[in-house]
Amino acid sequence: MPAETLEFQVEARQLLQLMIHSVYSNKDVFLRELVSNASDALDKLRLEKLRDDSLDADVSDLHIEIDVDKDARTLTVRDNGIGMSYDEVGQLIGTIANSGTAQFLKELREAKDGANTEGLIGQFGVGFYSGFMVADEVTLVTRRAGETKGTRWTSRGEDTYTLEPVDDAPQGTSVTLHLKPADPENQLHDYTSPWKIREIVKRYSDFITWPIRMVPERGSDTDGDKAPEPETLNSMKALWARSRDEVLDDEYHDLYKHIAHDWRDPLETIRLQAEGTFEFQALLFLPEHAPYDLFTRDFKRGVQLYVKRVFIMDDCEALLPQYLRFVKGVVDAADLSLNVSREILQQDRHIEMMRRRLTKKVLSTVKDLMAKNPDKYATFWREFGTVLKEGLVTDPENRDAILAVSSFASTHHDSEPTTLKSYVERMKDGQEDIYYLTGESRQSIENSPHMEAFRDRGIEVLLLTDPVDEVWADAVGEYEGKKLRSVAKGQIDLDAEEDDEGEGEKEKQTEDFAALLGWMKEQLAEDIKDVRLSSRLTVSPACVVSDTGDLTPALENMYRAMGQ
Ligand code: ADP
Ligand code: MG
Repeated sequence: MPAETLEFQVEARQLLQLMIHSVYSNKDVFLRELVSNASDALDKLRLEKLRDDSLDADVSDLHIEIDVDKDARTLTVRDNGIGMSYDEVGQLIGTIANSGTAQFLKELREAKDGANTEGLIGQFGVGFYSGFMVADEVTLVTRRAGETKGTRWTSRGEDTYTLEPVDDAPQGTSVTLHLKPADPENQLHDYTSPWKIREIVKRYSDFITWPIRMVPERGSDTDGDKAPEPETLNSMKALWARSRDEVLDDEYHDLYKHIAHDWRDPLETIRLQAEGTFEFQALLFLPEHAPYDLFTRDFKRGVQLYVKRVFIMDDCEALLPQYLRFVKGVVDAADLSLNVSREILQQDRHIEMMRRRLTKKVLSTVKDLMAKNPDKYATFWREFGTVLKEGLVTDPENRDAILAVSSFASTHHDSEPTTLKSYVERMKDGQEDIYYLTGESRQSIENSPHMEAFRDRGIEVLLLTDPVDEVWADAVGEYEGKKLRSVAKGQIDLDAEEDDEGEGEKEKQTEDFAALLGWMKEQLAEDIKDVRLSSRLTVSPACVVSDTGDLTPALENMYRAMGQ
């Protein structure tokens, strides 16, 4: 088969242009990206071999190797991992198949300040292309484990790339960067310097669990002909297995960035060491920002699962409930079989136990943030509150814990949300219930006629604007013995709460207006159930109210969407 020359997709071309003209001010990260891909490839091979022992692949010395050649000005990152087939190279490298990258480009165009732009690259996993920040040509040679033929991919980052079969490719992948001409002004960015490579690997990839080796340049050794010994650049220590006081926060953060494909530090790091009958360690992270696709169907949730330091799978959903889908991290279990599959995990008793522990740990961490670090809590709630509230409906066991860390917009504050606890503390004498109103925006709720009497009487109302609010408010029903009541539902007798003498007055009024009410009821018989006098209005003449037990339209939709 002769070499094929293929065109990059439009999006890929745009992305490459960005890389070549380098929006990333910190170019060092290209190496992190290549090492990260190599590490993933080794994880995948190890796993595939575990599942299928007949796979014709050598797993005896899985590692990553970095070679520099000062004269040729090349840098090569090599792994003996899973590799790619001819078709896979075309799909994975030649095109931008995932929607995330399209989103990346869109955000990039919208982003204004440089700092922002820089980070977007990492978040959307456009890792491989980052090589073009420092290279004017990239060659990738790869052979998929178990296959005999390899593939060479070459591109100068312009409009096209070439693909050709190669006969003698070793198992795995090597990526060779033909570095741009040296900048005599800037020795700091000399990527042919072993010193520089050592530094970057140490900084960004120390926790990678595979050895990253570098062969010092030939000739630099005084021992004549003897080939120099490769040195291992990383410590390979699993951070979650090291004791808290010997790990720097930055090391945790680098691991987070690797796992989450985020470039920002996490908001909070959570460690859990479970001992006893079922031992496991967890290192979880609360991100600082909600990913753009958190509410889409194909959002990849879950944490990485390891068994005794061996990577088993990404996105293990079984370890955390759906409403904690934004949590990232690693869970390392001591007593699971290396062969576990997703299906088994869903029903495993130990996994169930771990999920409960982890869930409680995350919720208690949020509670601590609330008490000790209100700023962080505020960020957390702004980004993930909507998701967390789903748990009020789906996880009755932890309902109280979730309610305790939830906060809501309220008529008491203009911007700051309030907790139910402080709402209750502010309740007026004689007020028995917690009032809320749902709607599309704070503004539309505040303009609702239902609010008039409450505003007039200075009674606080929670202003709930997320679709999930109707569902949880309904499902939860009460907080510390106080009913949660929508001000738009059923009969609300505010006067009764203020003074009991209003009762006689009201009966008299009802008599006075009986004829009018009767007439209105007749006229609107098709659309309404009843017409009542109400104390809830002060300015508007009338409003529509639903029965306490009725579903509101939004709620009906929501239940339908949840398949109920
Ligand atoms: P990401 O790592 O976020 O998926 P990249 O641009 O870094 O994005 O890589 C794109 C894809 O190319 C990877 O998902 C992987 O399938 C494939 N790939 C890249 N490098 C390697 C490698 N060294 N070995 C095997 N596959 C690789
Ligand atoms: Mg990558």
